[in-house]
Amino acid sequence: MQPKLPICYFDARTGILCGNCEARLARGELTAADVEASKAIASLSDRVTELGRVTLRRASEAKGSYVLEFEQSDMAALRSNPLLRQELERALKGKVWLVGAGVSDRKFLEEVLFPAKVLTVNTVWMPDGEKKTKVIVPARRNERRIGDFDKLRDAVKQARGIELLVETEREVASKLYR
Ligand SMILES: [Zn+2]
Repeated sequence: MQPKLPICYFDARTGILCGNCEARLARGELTAADVEASKAIASLSDRVTELGRVTLRRASEAKGSYVLEFEQSDMAALRSNPLLRQELERALKGKVWLVGAGVSDRKFLEEVLFPAKVLTVNTVWMPDGEKKTKVIVPARRNERRIGDFDKLRDAVKQARGIELLVETEREVASKLYR
Protein backbone atom coordinates (compact mmCIF):
# COMPACT_ATOMS: atom_id res chain seq x y z
CA MET A 1 0.00 0.00 0.00
CA GLN A 2 1.15 3.51 -0.78
CA PRO A 3 0.00 6.62 1.05
CA LYS A 4 -1.32 9.52 -1.04
CA LEU A 5 0.89 12.51 -0.42
CA PRO A 6 1.16 16.16 -1.51
CA ILE A 7 4.32 15.17 -3.45
CA CYS A 8 4.90 12.06 -5.60
CA TYR A 9 5.33 8.90 -3.56
CA PHE A 10 8.54 8.16 -5.45
CA ASP A 11 9.95 11.59 -4.57
CA ALA A 12 9.02 11.03 -0.93
CA ARG A 13 10.80 7.67 -0.92
CA THR A 14 13.96 8.93 -2.58
CA GLY A 15 13.99 12.34 -0.91
CA ILE A 16 14.56 14.00 -4.30
CA LEU A 17 11.80 16.09 -5.86
CA CYS A 18 10.92 15.61 -9.54
CA GLY A 19 10.77 18.68 -11.81
CA ASN A 20 7.03 19.01 -11.36
CA CYS A 21 7.09 18.90 -7.55
CA GLU A 22 10.11 21.21 -7.51
CA ALA A 23 8.15 23.76 -9.59
CA ARG A 24 5.11 23.46 -7.32
CA LEU A 25 7.34 24.08 -4.31
CA ALA A 26 8.84 27.14 -6.03
CA ARG A 27 5.32 28.47 -6.81
CA GLY A 28 4.27 28.00 -3.19
CA GLU A 29 1.70 25.30 -3.99
CA LEU A 30 3.73 23.01 -1.77
CA THR A 31 5.50 23.92 1.45
CA ALA A 32 8.70 22.58 2.93
CA ALA A 33 6.47 21.06 5.64
CA ASP A 34 4.49 19.14 2.99
CA VAL A 35 7.76 17.71 1.68
CA GLU A 36 9.16 16.78 5.11
CA ALA A 37 5.90 15.19 6.29
CA SER A 38 5.57 13.24 3.02
CA LYS A 39 9.08 11.85 3.39
CA ALA A 40 8.41 10.82 6.99
CA ILE A 41 5.12 9.10 6.13
CA ALA A 42 6.56 7.32 3.09
CA SER A 43 9.52 5.98 5.05
CA LEU A 44 7.33 4.79 7.95
CA SER A 45 4.60 3.29 5.77
CA ASP A 46 6.33 -0.09 5.36
CA ARG A 47 6.42 -0.62 9.11
CA VAL A 48 3.38 1.35 10.31
CA THR A 49 0.62 -0.21 8.23
CA GLU A 50 -1.99 2.48 8.96
CA LEU A 51 0.27 5.03 7.24
CA GLY A 52 0.24 2.99 4.03
CA ARG A 53 -3.45 3.74 3.53
CA VAL A 54 -3.69 7.42 4.42
CA THR A 55 -4.09 10.54 2.32
CA LEU A 56 -2.07 13.48 3.61
CA ARG A 57 -3.71 16.66 2.35
CA ARG A 58 -1.26 19.20 3.75
CA ALA A 59 1.21 19.81 6.53
CA SER A 60 2.34 22.92 8.33
CA GLU A 61 5.30 23.51 10.58
CA ALA A 62 6.10 26.10 13.23
CA LYS A 63 9.38 26.05 15.18
CA GLY A 64 9.82 22.34 14.53
CA SER A 65 6.27 21.29 15.44
CA TYR A 66 3.93 19.91 12.79
CA VAL A 67 0.21 19.79 12.13
CA LEU A 68 -0.62 17.06 9.62
CA GLU A 69 -4.00 17.24 7.87
CA PHE A 70 -5.33 13.91 6.65
CA GLU A 71 -8.55 12.87 4.90
CA GLN A 72 -11.18 12.84 7.62
CA SER A 73 -11.94 9.18 6.86
CA ASP A 74 -8.33 8.33 7.83
CA MET A 75 -8.62 9.71 11.34
CA ALA A 76 -10.09 6.63 13.04
CA ALA A 77 -7.28 4.41 11.71
CA LEU A 78 -4.64 6.99 12.63
CA ARG A 79 -5.97 7.18 16.20
CA SER A 80 -6.21 3.40 16.52
CA ASN A 81 -2.43 2.98 16.76
CA PRO A 82 -1.12 4.93 19.75
CA LEU A 83 2.50 4.47 18.64
CA LEU A 84 1.93 6.06 15.25
CA ARG A 85 2.17 9.61 16.49
CA GLN A 86 5.39 8.84 18.39
CA GLU A 87 6.86 7.32 15.24
CA LEU A 88 5.99 10.46 13.28
CA GLU A 89 7.44 12.67 16.03
CA ARG A 90 10.66 10.71 15.94
CA ALA A 91 10.87 10.91 12.14
CA LEU A 92 10.08 14.64 12.05
CA LYS A 93 12.12 15.44 15.18
CA GLY A 94 9.35 17.53 16.70
CA LYS A 95 5.84 17.49 18.11
CA VAL A 96 3.16 16.27 15.71
CA TRP A 97 -0.60 16.79 15.79
CA LEU A 98 -2.94 14.84 13.52
CA VAL A 99 -6.14 16.43 12.26
CA GLY A 100 -8.82 15.87 9.64
CA ALA A 101 -8.58 18.22 6.65
CA GLY A 102 -11.29 20.80 6.04
CA VAL A 103 -12.95 20.53 9.45
CA SER A 104 -14.49 23.44 11.39
CA ASP A 105 -12.32 25.39 13.82
CA ARG A 106 -14.09 23.74 16.75
CA LYS A 107 -13.43 20.24 15.39
CA PHE A 108 -9.84 21.19 14.57
CA LEU A 109 -9.27 22.28 18.18
CA GLU A 110 -10.88 19.08 19.49
CA GLU A 111 -8.49 17.08 17.35
CA VAL A 112 -5.29 18.87 18.35
CA LEU A 113 -6.25 18.72 22.03
CA PHE A 114 -7.20 15.03 21.83
CA PRO A 115 -7.35 13.06 24.15
CA ALA A 116 -8.41 16.00 26.32
CA LYS A 117 -12.05 16.96 25.98
CA VAL A 118 -12.91 20.44 24.76
CA LEU A 119 -15.62 21.88 27.00
CA THR A 120 -16.10 25.28 25.41
CA VAL A 121 -14.60 27.40 22.69
CA ASN A 122 -14.98 31.17 22.89
CA THR A 123 -13.65 34.15 21.03
CA VAL A 124 -12.05 36.68 23.36
CA TRP A 125 -10.73 40.14 22.57
CA MET A 126 -7.54 41.17 24.27
CA PRO A 127 -7.12 44.75 25.59
CA ASP A 128 -4.95 45.55 22.56
CA GLY A 129 -7.74 44.50 20.19
CA GLU A 130 -6.20 41.16 19.31
CA LYS A 131 -8.64 38.31 18.80
CA LYS A 132 -7.94 35.01 20.55
CA THR A 133 -9.75 31.71 20.70
CA LYS A 134 -10.13 30.45 24.24
CA VAL A 135 -10.60 26.75 24.81
CA ILE A 136 -11.58 25.38 28.19
CA VAL A 137 -10.53 21.82 29.01
CA PRO A 138 -11.29 19.72 32.12
CA ALA A 139 -9.20 20.33 35.22
CA ARG A 140 -7.57 16.95 35.55
CA ARG A 141 -3.80 17.05 35.63
CA ASN A 142 -3.19 14.45 32.95
CA GLU A 143 -5.21 16.58 30.58
CA ARG A 144 -3.23 19.67 31.46
CA ARG A 145 -0.23 17.77 30.11
CA ILE A 146 -1.72 17.13 26.68
CA GLY A 147 1.26 18.56 25.21
CA ASP A 148 3.46 21.37 25.32
CA PHE A 149 1.09 24.31 25.17
CA ASP A 150 3.65 26.75 23.77
CA LYS A 151 4.37 24.45 20.86
CA LEU A 152 0.69 23.72 20.36
CA ARG A 153 -0.08 27.45 20.24
CA ASP A 154 2.57 28.06 17.58
CA ALA A 155 1.45 25.06 15.52
CA VAL A 156 -2.23 26.05 15.67
CA LYS A 157 -1.41 29.63 14.65
CA GLN A 158 0.60 28.39 11.68
CA ALA A 159 -1.96 25.80 10.55
CA ARG A 160 -5.15 27.82 10.99
CA GLY A 161 -4.27 31.37 11.95
CA ILE A 162 -5.92 30.79 15.33
CA GLU A 163 -4.44 32.57 18.36
CA LEU A 164 -5.05 29.89 20.96
CA LEU A 165 -5.56 30.26 24.68
CA VAL A 166 -6.10 27.09 26.70
CA GLU A 167 -7.44 27.16 30.24
CA THR A 168 -8.60 24.43 32.55
CA GLU A 169 -11.96 24.57 34.33
CA ARG A 170 -10.08 25.17 37.57
CA GLU A 171 -8.24 28.18 36.21
CA VAL A 172 -11.51 29.64 34.96
CA ALA A 173 -13.17 29.07 38.36
CA SER A 174 -10.29 30.61 40.30
CA LYS A 175 -10.66 33.81 38.25
CA LEU A 176 -14.39 33.98 38.90
CA TYR A 177 -13.93 33.80 42.66
CA ARG A 178 -10.83 35.93 43.00
ZN1 LIG B 1 7.11 14.70 -7.93
